[in-house]
Amino acid sequence: MHLNLYSEDAVNLAAALANRRPATVEELADRCRAAGLVLERPVTPEDLDRTLAVLKEWEKVVDAADERERAELLNRMLADSAAYPRLTDHAGSGWHLHFRDDGQSLGPVLFALFSVGTAMHLVGRGMHRLRRCEVTECTTIFADTSRTGRQRYCSRQCANRDAVRRHRASRAG
Ligand SMILES: [Zn+2]
Ligand SMILES: [Zn+2]
Repeated sequence: MHLNLYSEDAVNLAAALANRRPATVEELADRCRAAGLVLERPVTPEDLDRTLAVLKEWEKVVDAADERERAELLNRMLADSAAYPRLTDHAGSGWHLHFRDDGQSLGPVLFALFSVGTAMHLVGRGMHRLRRCEVTECTTIFADTSRTGRQRYCSRQCANRDAVRRHRASRAG
């Protein structure tokens, strides 16, 4: 893997795949590659199944009622997915850390990547910085990487939509 675990790359990829689930093995491979992941082995239907199961578990972390529950759920994912960290230069493009065993296929790789990457994001930036859009009918998940840590909407579009709605509501009232 060559996603920087100390940036928001991994958590953003998890959110993107959770928001729009990959339908085919090819789509999963393409979107992971586009995100910067180096795929070392052919991607199989088992990888897609595993990824969808991981995303389901990951969504529970997103929807956790509070920080403690969020930490517990994520700790469970870490325990099931991550191995001891090791230095690697497997692609010859620089030393970096892997939190998984060598030679794994994409499903287990994403499991470790999403668990560790989400944990890094939350402890680095704040435990609350993973959520769904505030517009009720928009269930889009996003990692809040804003400066203030108070991002409420998935997009400018949703922010505008809600502003218009609140304006109308106040005029009606
Ligand atoms: Zn790597
Ligand atoms: Zn939204």
